Amino acid sequence: MADHYEVLGVARDASPDEIKKAYRRLARELHPDVNPGEDASERFKLVTHAYDVLSDPDQRQRYDMGGDAGGFGGAGFGGFSDIFETFFGAGGGARAGRARSRRERGQDALVRVTLELADVVFGVHRDIEVDTAVLCETCEGSCCQPGTQPVTCDVCHGSGNVQRTVRSLLGNVVTSQPCTACQGYGTTIPYPCATCQGQGRVRSRRTVSLDIPAGVETGLRLQLPGSGEVGPAGGPNGDLYLEINVAPHEIFSREGDDLLATLEVSMPDAILGTTTTIESLDGPVELEVRPGVQSGDVLTIKSRGVTPLRGSNRGDLRVGVHVVTPTRLDAKERAFIEDFRRRTKAPGPRLAEFHQGLFAKLRDRFRGN
Ligand SMILES: [Zn+2]
Ligand SMILES: [Zn+2]
Repeated sequence: MADHYEVLGVARDASPDEIKKAYRRLARELHPDVNPGEDASERFKLVTHAYDVLSDPDQRQRYDMGGDAGGFGGAGFGGFSDIFETFFGAGGGARAGRARSRRERGQDALVRVTLELADVVFGVHRDIEVDTAVLCETCEGSCCQPGTQPVTCDVCHGSGNVQRTVRSLLGNVVTSQPCTACQGYGTTIPYPCATCQGQGRVRSRRTVSLDIPAGVETGLRLQLPGSGEVGPAGGPNGDLYLEINVAPHEIFSREGDDLLATLEVSMPDAILGTTTTIESLDGPVELEVRPGVQSGDVLTIKSRGVTPLRGSNRGDLRVGVHVVTPTRLDAKERAFIEDFRRRTKAPGPRLAEFHQGLFAKLRDRFRGN
């Protein structure tokens, strides 16, 4: 025979309150309604018996002095309501004898949206089609044919639960289960709404209109409270989540709030300098390439980057120069360049520190190294 104090996991000098707390915790875990296993059921009996003895000051005193007062079946359970208060606390959920509501909150929904880089730079308005559930207009969520009403379930008389009394070693054990006649609602619907088959909602395709702010990025989720599906029986709407995916752009890539691109410059242009017009996401921008520009030099166009999600100062557009060496020369051009080399007394190749190639060099410069 297990020790009652050990069974409840309390000290021998535990206060009545500590004993009660220990029992509530174990009962919630082991009650057959919650935990249908064989072991749980056996432990539940032990725990309940231990509690019966230790919660009664007289029985506890006798037990402490060596006698197992009461014994199995002697103490039994208290009244029905007392037990359920013990399990689930006063005024608990449906199991405490209250019918559950047909109205429930609708589920959240997730929709993926693919944006172009320009949408991210400026923000964009989108109309998004979502498959969802909307309130049934025929019954307005009552689930009943218009002019009819739910009626009280005659099996559970509206409580939503059916109690069963089982005789056991412990005496009478009362369990409560959701009423199968009404699924625990306490009412039945004699004439379900034909439009929604008594669900109070119907499936539908709905358009959600929204302004996607500038500065969003792939993987970001925007929450639209109340834009998810309507709940059963017209319950409150769930939320709609919009997951952003940004399609890669042919030319521009994003780094923080800046946009990056490469400007290919021919050797003569690099030597002599030039002006050019580039097509930015804001439209044409005039760019000046200074004479003697080097591969890896960065031209910055202020405030032509991304507007941050929180803030209004746009990032920059940064263009890294890549000087393109001519690869095919005719005889005349070749002679010209050879003459150029002689005249400029160009130094031969010189060993310098290692660069991870042009793009690493660009990256370093972008980062201000
Ligand atoms: Zn309906
Ligand atoms: Zn019922």
